[in-house]
Amino acid sequence: MTTTIARPDKIASLPAPKRILMGPGPSDIHPRVLAALGQPVIGHLDPACVAMMDDLKRLLRYAFQTNNELTFAVSGPGSVGMETCFVNLVEPGNKVIVCRNGVFGGRMIENVQRAGGTAVVVEDTWGEPVDPQKVEDALKQNPDAKLVAFVHAETSTGAQSDAAAIAAVAEKHGCLVIADTVTSLGGTKVLLDQWGIDATYSGSQKCLSCTPGLSPVSFSARAVERIKARKTKVQSWFMDLNLVLEYWGGAAKRTYHHTAPVNSLFALHESLVMLAEEGLEKAWARHRNNHLALKAGFEAMGLKFVVREEARLPQLNAIYVPEGVADAEVRTRLLTEYNLEIGAGLGPLAGKVWRFGLMGYSSRPENVMLCLSALESVLASSGYALKAGAAEAAAKQAYTASGVVAA
Ligand SMILES: *Cc1c(COP(=O)(O)O)cnc(C)c1O
Repeated sequence: MTTTIARPDKIASLPAPKRILMGPGPSDIHPRVLAALGQPVIGHLDPACVAMMDDLKRLLRYAFQTNNELTFAVSGPGSVGMETCFVNLVEPGNKVIVCRNGVFGGRMIENVQRAGGTAVVVEDTWGEPVDPQKVEDALKQNPDAKLVAFVHAETSTGAQSDAAAIAAVAEKHGCLVIADTVTSLGGTKVLLDQWGIDATYSGSQKCLSCTPGLSPVSFSARAVERIKARKTKVQSWFMDLNLVLEYWGGAAKRTYHHTAPVNSLFALHESLVMLAEEGLEKAWARHRNNHLALKAGFEAMGLKFVVREEARLPQLNAIYVPEGVADAEVRTRLLTEYNLEIGAGLGPLAGKVWRFGLMGYSSRPENVMLCLSALESVLASSGYALKAGAAEAAAKQAYTASGVVAA
């Protein structure tokens, strides 16, 4: 036997460059999490793996602030977590109120329609939070709606919506609530049980600072009841929670469902250990303090935020590209000259904004300072008028004011 396809002529390993990740995710990863990832592979039904998966559920309940039994990590990126929520909770013919104020609300509409449901869309301007009053109006006009879905932290704009208010309106009208907490979890307050969220999905690679590819999810008892009472089978075999439960479920013997990404789960476990060691309140305060310093620096450079102050996410800072400055060129120069990755605008904001993430392990004063000095020098050489050093001075002042740096 001989091969019929010729051996490729250039065969070489490809090392990844070292970058500082200040975009919309993935975020920087702590060496402890990378070390956990690099451990030997063990079987996914090995007692040591089963014990880790049980502990992972416990740590996720803390991160989500929930007592939900059905809390685990879906094997797949945030989008698979999103789809898991929709394919299980939407039955053909169901009406779902979907709030859209950015990219990810749009993706929710797709999910509802592909699951055979009808989406009633509540629109808000990109950059604005979801208006709970509009949700209430939509529920009054659609008393047969079964579900309300919204994005808590809209990564495409940096707007944070009032999850508690939206969930309260949904509850009043007898609807279950799906919240996207991909960018919020670990970076800003998420209180599933207090707010009354029935189903949520997050992502490993944003404020949890783990490698991409896992989606923490959680379902309330009411959501589980609804899934168990379905008249039709979930159309996805892989995401059918009735089957996944046998694998991730309680103390009962595990039955093989799929091979979980063991090493990634160990890494996620370590990142959750680090979050618990720091404590949620401290993690939220860290994200806020770094945001305030970055904001002070941006304002000293005359840059403008997309989102009004009260609705801004500390971990995702969307800034308008100043008049006369070339969007892509600045991003390319930050990457090639400073190894600094930032995000571009999406949809109607493409070419108009830059998105600076301060997520998880990326949310550190040295990243804020590097970012401000790098941006200052790139902008100055693009002909943008600014006062050299002003941004860093303003950020330092903000750190002193918030007590991060001693006065
Ligand atoms: C990143 C993101 C997603 C999708 O997550 P992936 O891991 O890229 O699939 C969903 N919703 C929001 C708000 C996000 O920021």
